[in-house]
Amino acid sequence: MISRCEPPPRRCDVAIIGGGPAGLAAATELKNLGIASVVVLEREPQAGGIPRHCGHPPFGMREFKRIYTGPHYARRLVERTLNAAVTLCLDTSVVSIEAGGVLQLTTPMGLHELRATRVIICTGIRETPRAARLVSGQRPLGITTTGALQSMVYLQHKIPFEKPVIVGSELVSFSALLTCKHAKIRPVAMLEQYSRITARWGSQLLPGMLGVPVHLNTRVVEILGQQRVSGVKVCDTKTGKARVLECDGLVFSGQFIAESSLMRSSHLQTDPQTGNPVIDQYGRCSDPEFFATGNMTHPVETAGACWSDGVQTAHHVYASLSGLLGRQDQRLKINVASPHIKYIVPQMLSLPGNHTAQAGMKNISLRFKNPSHGRLSMRSHSGELVTKFIHTLPERRVKLSIPELLTLDPSASLEIQFREK
Ligand SMILES: Cc1cc2nc3c(=O)[nH]c(=O)nc-3n(C[C@H](O)[C@H](O)[C@H](O)COP(=O)(O)OP(=O)(O)OC[C@H]3O[C@@H](n4cnc5c(N)ncnc54)[C@H](O)[C@@H]3O)c2cc1C
Repeated sequence: MISRCEPPPRRCDVAIIGGGPAGLAAATELKNLGIASVVVLEREPQAGGIPRHCGHPPFGMREFKRIYTGPHYARRLVERTLNAAVTLCLDTSVVSIEAGGVLQLTTPMGLHELRATRVIICTGIRETPRAARLVSGQRPLGITTTGALQSMVYLQHKIPFEKPVIVGSELVSFSALLTCKHAKIRPVAMLEQYSRITARWGSQLLPGMLGVPVHLNTRVVEILGQQRVSGVKVCDTKTGKARVLECDGLVFSGQFIAESSLMRSSHLQTDPQTGNPVIDQYGRCSDPEFFATGNMTHPVETAGACWSDGVQTAHHVYASLSGLLGRQDQRLKINVASPHIKYIVPQMLSLPGNHTAQAGMKNISLRFKNPSHGRLSMRSHSGELVTKFIHTLPERRVKLSIPELLTLDPSASLEIQFREK
């Protein structure tokens, strides 16, 4: 893996927290736009983010018009970043963010304070581990998340089990299947608590091709085993009937949460439900010197989508540095009036002021808590602004167009509503 670790400077134009696809894309684009000093701060000894340990394809179609494995893709991103003369600081964790663009860092040389004119937060996501899922049973060896499994298999060359059960059926659980195939691990089953596989159609063929049975309407109730996992008690969510599947491991996939611990202890406003930073359509936080982008704003999208977010955010940050994004734009909060909706992003819309000519995100992205079918709309006191019918599953992205901003009244109260069919 290519790396060129530099000590952090005291000041820079833009500091980027996190060297995954979103952070590296934003950094490279900002340098290409002519910003003089751009610094990426990455806590790991290598940059590249999650793809470093996803040893399978497909990565890179959008960015490089080629299909790479994750590590190869990560190397290409790092290469591009270094060629653009971005300062890459590895083994460098941001431990606190403060008003005025001040970042406190821990580095191999000790504690360090960096002051940036703009900061972009791209710290990614994590999967919900077993403890937070409230599954009963002992704490035997052999329980992981997909990310932990991949890091064991691809980075440490360890095989944690031979016949695990995979819990979840969103896109990343298919990444778990591919990792198992690579390591010659044979999953005994894939479990999905709802009646449909969450991932889109193409991926749904994979379990059949690999000979892994998919059990729909099936939920884990207890993990069996003292030292090692010996089985898992599952329950049919329709009939309530329980049974035991023999296995020697469990991979909990999905239920992503933003890596937002930095935000929670900062002055930035966060969404109380998710801990994600509150942003407007430019990815701008409540303090306009800070931006957020990539997976941490919308757990979880593909690497290509996060790369694209990073490029877009770089343009917004560039506009902000050039005075083309008004610092005091009028902001409208979007309220969510439905218990079915897990989160929305952006949560604010900045109305075009004297300055703002920059086009931001075109859509509001939403996720639902449960399988949902019905009519989604955005309303203001003057009536319905946009609407659409949706039929979706949890963890699937739903998009709703952002209405024409010039038509919005600055005193409008915006609300997202959902009526089940
Ligand atoms: C297990 C798994 C498998 C996946 N498989 C695929 C796949 O096959 N194909 C695909 O397209 N997508 C896949 N994805 C999605 C893809 O990996 C992500 O969309 C992409 O990596 C997100 O990029 P990002 O830059 O937003 O975040 P990340 O890649 O998560 O990068 C965030 C970076 O921030 C760093 N960081 C966090 N906090 C700090 C801090 N305080 N200080 C300094 N650095 C910090 C982290 O070390 C990390 O390097 C997968 C995701 C997961 C979880």
